[in-house]
Amino acid sequence: MNDMPKEEFRKAGHQLIDWIADYLNNIEKFPVLPKVKPGDITKRIPQTPPVNGEEIEKVLSDIDKVLLDGITHWNHPGFMAYFNTTSSGPGILAELLTAAFTSNGMLWKTSPTVTEMEKSMMNWFRQMVGLPENYWGIIYDTASTSSMHAIASAREQLNLGFREKGVAGRKDLPKIILYCSEQAHSSIDKGALLLGVGLDGIRKIPVNEKFEMIPEKLEEAINEDIKKGYKPFCVVATVGTTSTTSVDPVEQIADIAEKYNIWFHIDAAYAGVTAMVPEMRWVSKGWERADSIVINPHKWMFTPLDLSILLTRKKDILKRAFSLVPEYLKTAQDSEVENFMDYGYQLGRRFRSLKLWFIIRYFGVEGIANRLKQQISWAKEFSSWISDAKDFELVAPVPFSTVCFRYNPGNKTEDELNKINEELLEKINTTGKIFLSHTKLYGKFVIRLTIGGIRHERRHIQNAWELIKTIARG
Ligand SMILES: *Cc1c(COP(=O)(O)O)cnc(C)c1O
Repeated sequence: MNDMPKEEFRKAGHQLIDWIADYLNNIEKFPVLPKVKPGDITKRIPQTPPVNGEEIEKVLSDIDKVLLDGITHWNHPGFMAYFNTTSSGPGILAELLTAAFTSNGMLWKTSPTVTEMEKSMMNWFRQMVGLPENYWGIIYDTASTSSMHAIASAREQLNLGFREKGVAGRKDLPKIILYCSEQAHSSIDKGALLLGVGLDGIRKIPVNEKFEMIPEKLEEAINEDIKKGYKPFCVVATVGTTSTTSVDPVEQIADIAEKYNIWFHIDAAYAGVTAMVPEMRWVSKGWERADSIVINPHKWMFTPLDLSILLTRKKDILKRAFSLVPEYLKTAQDSEVENFMDYGYQLGRRFRSLKLWFIIRYFGVEGIANRLKQQISWAKEFSSWISDAKDFELVAPVPFSTVCFRYNPGNKTEDELNKINEELLEKINTTGKIFLSHTKLYGKFVIRLTIGGIRHERRHIQNAWELIKTIARG
């Protein structure tokens, strides 16, 4: 009635590591996007669970037969869609060890190493992105969760009794308003949804021609809301927006947030890691004035999903929003230690910081920074190819590693161009060689190419350009 016998585990473990090593080694042989139709994979999975156990060998052999056809290969160097999340060797190994320990970091006592490693890694990471010592960090699963906790802290900072009285049915509560640009990520809206702000309580501030929030418009909106008797409580700047990777003017927004005493959150989920690159330090200008910042190592620091970091200089407010300690979770060390369960809605916590310990030690800060720097330079190179081609155009500036462009052979209406580019993207993606995504900017259908994978080499960027040109011109 016990677990798998240890020799069987050892053998299967070796086999699986071999499988993974071969898979990553040969990954370019797979089409980056699967060709399956909805339901195809379901058909391969029995509708009822096995009553009696099966050999682990049989499970392992089904990796190829059942799974692979429906896997989108995020680790494929042809993956240049969305933001390219890839997992590095050290990250994969750490993930394996996390499962072996399955230590729960809800309290210091439930696994001292988990808490102390997370605190140490947050201290490392804070230094890596150049934030001062008064910043404290915590790991959550995703940026969506990190930003939700930031917005919850912003709400708690108002001291309007949200903990005790909630939001529903209260006549004494003013409408509370959150501000972000119209280019902000939908996770901000979702955080507001969850916290009783409502979509109605979000002001989408217009952006300039470079897709950056216009601070004058922010201040105007705040004043209008105050006049109406509403309570501005949170402003979110994005450093590296999801569509174009534009950067909101952090310092000017900080001025306004300070003037009106509003919580200032920075969403740097994708681009935040570039603060590690000496040449990119401009990115983090003014960050020390933010109340909270989210950065995702799982986006552009070669960390397997999931690992998002929230840094804040107001951890006490975050704690006030979430700490709730029942008798059975009280420990003798409570006064001496930090219990991470006090800083979020979840109780159980995975040992995620182990991935940072492996990755940062293996590559080194410089090794990570150099990879980012190289990828940024390839994106600049790609964007220069686009600008030099008479029948292509850049649609947004390229501050990081994402290029927004479209095919424009001339003599076409905007509607025709949209159709042509949509078709072009579809054709590129069905080759299985690369996977690009799209966005819409001022009604224009725009193709997005992102570099950010640990397996990207310059040839992949060159090949992508050859493929895009050939298909477009054909
Ligand atoms: C990807 C992204 C998010 C959401 O990240 P998750 O970790 O998937 O929740 C939020 N903000 C920005 C700017 C992003 O690029």
